[in-house]
Amino acid sequence: MAPSAIDDLLQVCREALRFEADLTVSQWADSHRVLSGKASAEPGPWRTDRTPYLREVMDCLSTTSPVQRVVLMAGAQLGKTEGGANWLGYVIDHAPGPMLMVQPTVDMAKRLSKQRLESLISDTPVLSEKIAPARSRDSGNTMFSKEFPGGMMILTGANSATGLRSTPCRYIFLDEVDAFPGDVDGEGDPVTLAERRSTTFSRRKIFMTSTPTVKDFSRIEAEYLLSDQRRFFVPCPCCSGMQWLKWTQLKYQDNDPSTAQYECEVCGERFSENHKTGMLQAGEWRATAPGDGKTAGFHINSLYSPLGWKSWHEVVEDFLRAKGDAPRLKTWVNTVLGETWEEDYASKVSADGLLERCEHFEPAVIPENGLALTVGVDVQDNRLAVSVWAWGRDEEGWLLDHQEIYGDPSRQELWKQLDEVALREWPHVLGGKLRPDVVAIDSGGHFTAEVYQYARERGRQGVIAIKGQSQRGKPPIGKPNKVDINAKGQTLKRGAQVWPVGSDTAKTTLFGRLKHNEPGPGYLHFHMQTTSEYFEQLTAEKQVLRTNRNGFPVREWVLPASKRNEALDCLVYAYAALNRMYQRYDRRTMWDQLEKRLEAAGKKKKPLRSKQQTPTGATGFVSNW
Ligand SMILES: [Zn+2]
Repeated sequence: MAPSAIDDLLQVCREALRFEADLTVSQWADSHRVLSGKASAEPGPWRTDRTPYLREVMDCLSTTSPVQRVVLMAGAQLGKTEGGANWLGYVIDHAPGPMLMVQPTVDMAKRLSKQRLESLISDTPVLSEKIAPARSRDSGNTMFSKEFPGGMMILTGANSATGLRSTPCRYIFLDEVDAFPGDVDGEGDPVTLAERRSTTFSRRKIFMTSTPTVKDFSRIEAEYLLSDQRRFFVPCPCCSGMQWLKWTQLKYQDNDPSTAQYECEVCGERFSENHKTGMLQAGEWRATAPGDGKTAGFHINSLYSPLGWKSWHEVVEDFLRAKGDAPRLKTWVNTVLGETWEEDYASKVSADGLLERCEHFEPAVIPENGLALTVGVDVQDNRLAVSVWAWGRDEEGWLLDHQEIYGDPSRQELWKQLDEVALREWPHVLGGKLRPDVVAIDSGGHFTAEVYQYARERGRQGVIAIKGQSQRGKPPIGKPNKVDINAKGQTLKRGAQVWPVGSDTAKTTLFGRLKHNEPGPGYLHFHMQTTSEYFEQLTAEKQVLRTNRNGFPVREWVLPASKRNEALDCLVYAYAALNRMYQRYDRRTMWDQLEKRLEAAGKKKKPLRSKQQTPTGATGFVSNW
């Protein structure tokens, strides 16, 4: 053999050796991975070219990459599960070491082991050579652990603290982290517990993946936001402008999904899906944030799903089917856009929307179907906010009046002014007059003693002191507590009573009703003079998700700083006052009695609406707690 030929051969050998040493996960998968017909829609040898966006995700998991943590936030049908499986194969075959694979629950770990791992191993020859079948005795291959030369893989669930406390591991795979519990067996966050297993390894790898869930509660989003926030940029087929694909750019006409086209953000041209394969080939990940230097974060949505998987047509079709139905829309946002769901979308009632539905009825006059009056009073340091509400059958409500009475609540004058609103007679549009049945005043502020005194002196006129409770699941109004000592520590001659008000329950009920757009049971009416400031206050609070002590998400009403919400508090108290009436009347016949009350006074000139009952479920009478 000529010396040059020997040199050439040596060169080939050197390259082969270096290639082996520098092998990445995607190269390993392209050489060795085989997809089975059972587990995959496209059986046969793995081709990274089919899902080009997974290449860099996988290669950050290669031992050659300096990245320590890889975060993948993604929608469905993008191949992320197989990308993770490729990493497992790479570790077993090429870079063995101890590995921990965590699923949301132990049951899910069992299912993954049986269904996916078994086929990953049996269909990929280089892997089945290294791991004995689970059936054979002493094979080192069980449901929850797989031994291989130079390493071992342990499977567990995020709900098992014991499993997470296993031996130190160089590789940690945390799958579907948004489904992990907040706390595991009282030992804290399962992600922290699992990650702690890897701290002794300087060249560790942590792979975290999930479809996101709810905003402010999503782990994967929190991790992504701490990362360098990579997006997959692809060139426009018309102008070559690089951009990442967004739902807002997908256009369609006349609610027809088959018209779906993508509108380039750079040149404005629209193009169809058949350009996708070329665009994905030419795509590249670009960081959009500095990150911490060790974490690579990837976000990708289903608009990137390769041709033949999920089409733009289907994305639009799914959206049209889900819009208008909050739970389905949430699933669509999570699994198609790969984004978190803002709980606000579901709970927000806009001030503008309410302003638009104001009606032509006379303020300060009880409308035709109004049978009872209640008043809610919120006590501030320099004023009282007062709302007067009329109520009819099925808790249909009308705002008669809302005002602020300025003054010092520690002085008598202010409370005398309140008498003029809360204790006066209000005219009925059919003739006659009604006084408020119950007046509920908040005693929770700085003027507890004054509120107690006012309520005690006017108890016969239906005035009660109340105190809001934020705990979930409390009735709108509970049983009164006796309070014999006032805020100054003085004993009162005749003890006052305070009614607890379940503010959280009342707000949830009332916000549900503010979302109603059809007058009828539970509908809340506003007259044309209602101001935009009133509606701003009414809608100032929003529901957010918080984690409770046990790590479970709970919804909570929160008032953003610098916002006022007296109008909402007054409505909550007026509604609690209406519920106080149910304690005094027989609830089954209350509205009949109230109608007779109006008739008996001889003030009624024409018959009221007949007392037909709405079907169960539609009435406000159905217990809300
Ligand atoms: Zn373009």
